[in-house]
Amino acid sequence: MDKIPLGVSKCLLGEPVRFDGGHKRNRYLTDVLSEYVEFRPVCPEVAIGLGIPRKTIRLIVTDGQDRIRGVENPDLDVTDALVKEAELAAQAMPDICGYVFMQNSPSCAVFGLKRYGTNGYSIDSQGRGAYAKRFMELMPLIPVEEAGRLTDAGLRENFITRIFALHDWRKQLQHNPTPKKLIEFYSRYKYQVMAHHVPSYFAIGKFLANLSAKPIEEINQQFIHMLMTALGHKASRKGNTNAMMHLRGYLKSHINKLEKEELGHLIETYGKGQVPIIVPLTLLKHHLMKLDNPYLKNQTFWSPHPDALGLRNFVLEH
Ligand code: SF4
Repeated sequence: MDKIPLGVSKCLLGEPVRFDGGHKRNRYLTDVLSEYVEFRPVCPEVAIGLGIPRKTIRLIVTDGQDRIRGVENPDLDVTDALVKEAELAAQAMPDICGYVFMQNSPSCAVFGLKRYGTNGYSIDSQGRGAYAKRFMELMPLIPVEEAGRLTDAGLRENFITRIFALHDWRKQLQHNPTPKKLIEFYSRYKYQVMAHHVPSYFAIGKFLANLSAKPIEEINQQFIHMLMTALGHKASRKGNTNAMMHLRGYLKSHINKLEKEELGHLIETYGKGQVPIIVPLTLLKHHLMKLDNPYLKNQTFWSPHPDALGLRNFVLEH
């Protein structure tokens, strides 16, 4: 398998680029995910010349605007430099399929960054790092996550599902889309989308029903935004149960009463949060594969990411 290009905050790979000369090595990234991805590391603060070690900066709301400024030296304002760095990085890696940012950083944080007033008091935790913010504006298609949140099984699976889906689309469809290829591509994702977000399942189906309305390139771009938005919704236990029940419908006349009960019981047990999805999914797949139906066989729902990552061995909270 060719490796998936992934942007990453450089300190997460164990590089000593933090303000204090340390790093924040994330073992999940370096020891597990590295098998499947090719990292594109960036430390925006070093890239703009702040040096290592460096004085602390933080998000200080100034005249109503989020600015990244020095704590000891408030005259230092690096916001514009970080924004420019994000623009350069977005230009340099248009092919990435995701980005893992370091949390709590005035440059890299995506969620819940502390914002301070000019008086030094904390205002709220509603900020976003200046580099991450601009990067995300420029590349809205790219799934992003913070390293700290990857410890949550549901968020981790959702992020990795999206980077594999985007990579799949880049390989199969990005450059030479045709109506046939687009339909074939999406037909593999149907049950996965159903598990993630039923309204998107209907919306994408309707959208793809008329492929002659616009140039195929335009439809393709709109399609991938719709698909990534759909997959951005976490596949909940309810969503996965719904997709499995629909797939079970194909078995109606192919399995006996006892097998039906056994399968139904396992899906139900999963829905109650008593076993991980891998339990009913394995049995469902076992039965369905015997039908030798290419449409069913090729569903990404079976393995949206490599089984070796073990992302489906956890009981989801919801
Ligand atoms: S969080 Fe971002 S800016 Fe800070 S050290 Fe890591 S890569 Fe550099």
